[in-house]
Amino acid sequence: MQQDLDHLKKKAVLYATLENPGKYDRRGSLFSVHDPLISTIPWLKAHDTSYCKYHSPFQKHTTVLSNLGLNLLPPCNAHAPCAHHLNHLGLIEKASPRDKNSMPEMLIHRILHSFIETAALSNATAFYVLDFFSGWGSFKAAIKTFGQSNAYKEMSDNIINSKRTRFTRLDFILRSNSIVTCTEFDCTRYRIGTKQCLKRGRWEDSAVLTDPQHVTDYTTTPFQIETIVCDLIRNEDLPQGEKIAILIHASPPCKTYSKSGLHYHRPAHGALSPLASQHDSLVTDVLNELERLLA
Ligand SMILES: [Zn+2]
Repeated sequence: MQQDLDHLKKKAVLYATLENPGKYDRRGSLFSVHDPLISTIPWLKAHDTSYCKYHSPFQKHTTVLSNLGLNLLPPCNAHAPCAHHLNHLGLIEKASPRDKNSMPEMLIHRILHSFIETAALSNATAFYVLDFFSGWGSFKAAIKTFGQSNAYKEMSDNIINSKRTRFTRLDFILRSNSIVTCTEFDCTRYRIGTKQCLKRGRWEDSAVLTDPQHVTDYTTTPFQIETIVCDLIRNEDLPQGEKIAILIHASPPCKTYSKSGLHYHRPAHGALSPLASQHDSLVTDVLNELERLLA
């Protein structure tokens, strides 16, 4: 498997974003629990921001770990307030589950902007997002609207004007406004999505090709990210010298890392809840897998 991956990686550039709400250093938050492992992965840098900085009516602080220079807006506070001037709609705890758990569209557009601009420097001409815990489908929805966003316009203008595009094909693809293919793998719902392929100048839907035997419960091993990444690379037939860029995005389930469940799932004294132990091994698997894939 590793040999297969090393061989395929010559055709690919890989990036990752790992998102989880809450301050990095709060006791029980995902990143503070897993900090001993995270701190051994030097290319994973933490970027803090708030949902309200990206037009969400709620002030929800979040952290994105990534090997991309994301350039996110600083978290909302009295010194750096959002456009609501701290008049937020209310507590995020009172929001609908969808609002509570979906990343704002503009924040995802910002991430896609960094992803494509960075990958274009490595001669990427095909761009995939593998959303590994696609739950509410926020990445898929934001990818659909990305082509009409200001972030897209800014990104494609930057690339075209910088004359970094060695390939006129990338110019053409950038002007098509539909360059990112979303593949979802909701490992809690056993689902694999469809992808869009450019065939003879037209976008067509086709199924994500991965062996159904790899679609297993997320608590079982071996872990699945590598399999899907290998399948995506293998199935992309690009002209010589052009690369496929894959952004692996993971927003792991956060129930046992949230402030509200802290006393029950991660008491200051005493044992973790069974679900908290399961989530810890899931996140450890994700981090180990990312380290191996992106090293
Ligand atoms: Zn705010």
